[in-house]
Amino acid sequence: MSSFLAVDSAGFTRALEFEKRRDPRFEVTVVNRENFFLFTPMLHEIAASDLDLTNIVNPIRKMIRHVNFFCGDVDKIDIDKKEVVVSHGFDRHSHTLEYDHLVLALGSVTNFFGLPGVAERALTMKSLGDAIQLRNRLIAHLEEADTECARAERPPLLTFVVAGGGFAGVETIASINDFLRDALPFYPNLKEEMLRIVLVHPGEYILPELGEKLGRYADKKLRERGVEIHPKTKVAAVRPNEIELSNGEKIVSSTLVWTAGISPNPILDLVPCPKERGRIKVNANLEVESVDGLWALGDCALVPDPATGKYCPPTAQHASREGKVVAQNIIASVYGAPKKPFSFKTLGALAAIGRRTGVARIFGVNFSGFLAWFLWR
Ligand SMILES: Cc1cc2nc3c(=O)[nH]c(=O)nc-3n(C[C@H](O)[C@H](O)[C@H](O)COP(=O)(O)OP(=O)(O)OC[C@H]3O[C@@H](n4cnc5c(N)ncnc54)[C@H](O)[C@@H]3O)c2cc1C
Repeated sequence: MSSFLAVDSAGFTRALEFEKRRDPRFEVTVVNRENFFLFTPMLHEIAASDLDLTNIVNPIRKMIRHVNFFCGDVDKIDIDKKEVVVSHGFDRHSHTLEYDHLVLALGSVTNFFGLPGVAERALTMKSLGDAIQLRNRLIAHLEEADTECARAERPPLLTFVVAGGGFAGVETIASINDFLRDALPFYPNLKEEMLRIVLVHPGEYILPELGEKLGRYADKKLRERGVEIHPKTKVAAVRPNEIELSNGEKIVSSTLVWTAGISPNPILDLVPCPKERGRIKVNANLEVESVDGLWALGDCALVPDPATGKYCPPTAQHASREGKVVAQNIIASVYGAPKKPFSFKTLGALAAIGRRTGVARIFGVNFSGFLAWFLWR
């Protein structure tokens, strides 16, 4: 029997491959600190109360019945002894899990670049908890700002700043802008001109992954709906009720949503193997060449892209397909069959920019407006 340990979520498609196969030669265990699979592309809709969270959360135990699941935190990885130490429970006690094959798909973590006050004060948009916290914050601020005694506090309470003009930042600001403007009529003491929704982006135009034309279209639509966009600007520091920008401007606000940087999961530092900027280097078959039985994929891996000669981008589109290939390659390596290299051409990229409007580039063709939103949805 070959035991195979998968540490991940999106690459969890791998476990589904084993689930389908039900080969008694394999004992498969998925380890994750959360017991659900999260569909991140619609996370911003939870923050804006557009969707119920059950729409983007799938319980892992419901999806895999023939694969083991261990809900816990990976604390240590020993590639020489082929062991992973996992802690769990209210007392955080540990277990050691042995493996023949280990697949790492630990994703990424938010990078605050050491900017003063940002890690301590900013909200993030990566987990389900983040989206719920943001939604609660928006509602709490509206309630508080509506009271007479908080009159002087309205500017910091009603100014919301998002850092980062990529997919996560743009979709988040579009959603919270719609949510706040739709909610305002229910607060008798609040007026539209009291709201300030600000997007800070270091590049010349937002959504650079979609190209200049769609980026500028999204910029125009968001501005028409009252979003203030600061291109070529970064957040420099965050203090109570104040966000300082790289151009020296100070915004009176107590809410910063940080979507402006990710870095590889720090647990990878414990794995001595070839890496570049903290991400694990794998070959075309998704295996770490110098380490027996070690595989990696998703955001924590650098996967060669044969089409561009570079590395695959860190997207769910890639991670889920890489998962399938890893599963097939582990089975092939156990049965002594040839392994399959990973190859996938990005289908496209889409973003929702509020009010049933979207932007999309699919197979090189640009779409915008309702049709793009419809395709996204
Ligand atoms: C807001 C947002 C929107 C996005 N939108 C899109 C989109 O529209 N299209 C797209 O293709 N991609 C999108 N992405 C990117 C996509 O979510 C990632 O590329 C994809 O999830 C990567 O999969 P992964 O398995 O590598 O990592 P993740 O999906 O991040 O999974 C890592 C898992 O490991 C778990 N974990 C981490 N550390 C430990 C530990 N020590 N112990 C136990 N478990 C641990 C985490 O809980 C997590 O469940 C978006 C991301 C975000 C944040």
